[in-house]
Amino acid sequence: MEHGAVIKHDETKGPKTGAWRYMHPEVDKEKCIGCATCVPFCPEASIEMKENKADIDYDYCKGCGVCAEVCPVKAIMMKKK
Ligand code: SF4
Ligand code: SF4
Repeated sequence: MEHGAVIKHDETKGPKTGAWRYMHPEVDKEKCIGCATCVPFCPEASIEMKENKADIDYDYCKGCGVCAEVCPVKAIMMKKK
């Protein structure tokens, strides 16, 4: 079975998509179980795992809310900017 890949940003190309954001995701580090489910779903590849917790790069997160939808323990809450 083939696996997908997360393509890292090349900051010399492409705009920072964080400027589009109306809502922003906040990770509750107490609730996050480190499953990394949210990482491949992010259309902006702006979630990385740090110390086994999801960490969001707000320069590129556009606030779509997909990460909050797919998190199995609802550790990500969408809040107004
Ligand atoms: S809100 Fe969307 S763009 Fe931002 S981290 Fe979550 S999935 Fe990625
Ligand atoms: S899907 Fe939820 S529990 Fe899993 S790493 Fe992301 S924020 Fe943490």
